[in-house]
Amino acid sequence: MERIFLGIDLGGTNIKAGCLDHNFNLLCKTAAPTDADLGPDAVIDRITDTAAKLLSENGLTMESVEAAGIGSPGTLNIAEGMVISAPNFPKFRNIPLRDMLSRRLSKPVVFENDANAACWAEYRAGAGKGVNDMLFMTLGTGIGGGIISNGELVHGYFDNAAEFGHIIIQKDGRGCVCGQQGCVEAYSSAAATAKRAGEALQAGAKSSLRKIFETNGDVTCKDVFEHCAQGDRLAVNIVEGTCSALGLLCVNLLHITGPQRIVFAGGMIAAGQILADKIRYFFEQYIWHLKPEPVEICLASLGEDAGIIGTAALALHAEQQGKL
Ligand SMILES: [Zn+2]
Repeated sequence: MERIFLGIDLGGTNIKAGCLDHNFNLLCKTAAPTDADLGPDAVIDRITDTAAKLLSENGLTMESVEAAGIGSPGTLNIAEGMVISAPNFPKFRNIPLRDMLSRRLSKPVVFENDANAACWAEYRAGAGKGVNDMLFMTLGTGIGGGIISNGELVHGYFDNAAEFGHIIIQKDGRGCVCGQQGCVEAYSSAAATAKRAGEALQAGAKSSLRKIFETNGDVTCKDVFEHCAQGDRLAVNIVEGTCSALGLLCVNLLHITGPQRIVFAGGMIAAGQILADKIRYFFEQYIWHLKPEPVEICLASLGEDAGIIGTAALALHAEQQGKL
């Protein structure tokens, strides 16, 4: 029987689980509500139940699982497999998630942060395939990141490397949820894009977005991109603000890690190729002229499955390296 790898993507709303074979084929997947408020033990129960159900419904058994991987949000101690704290998981304080899950599944478990897991998925099976030096950014409520350098994830000594969203691009700039000012996340996340549009509308800017704003009291990032595509001047300005900050971020990061490819993921990439093109445009405005920079800027290809593919692929990687 072929051995398979179980990937678990722990989110604030849903637990996703999937099975991967050695060739990165996603054999099956499922999702269940997390109910994070019930605390770590209940969440571990939910994960193991979800995994067991997934296997049995697809004619698989726990015996065929070689190892599992789990991706978690929050601040983590990767080496210890601990969740130190996570905003959507108020009862998770210094929780040894990796070892708790490993005991329950009776399998080795690989532990990673959610953005790094998605980054690994794109690197091995998605838009980063064939590239050994890659940067990855998720554009959602916040901005998460991942670095592949010479074929390996970069964690940093304290496991907080690749927090791209909190790179400061504007001295004394907009306040960020993290407490810093001028973080790129405060300009270019989906939430910040919607917020900047709302502020302009509140201040009286003329826009085709006004009707939505008057009805709902705010606008979404999706609204802004839709009205940008229709040529609304305010929406175009807001989107260009988002993309210019991301272009600047790409320049700064290029000078640190020298990537061959930069992959954007997250809800905002539903806007399509226009997003990558606009980021590229601003990147070209800001980059030095000492030499051409042929770095590719593109969109992720695995969508919502990146978390489960990445965690399972990390378990596979650990097996191949003899690290299970
Ligand atoms: Zn910040």
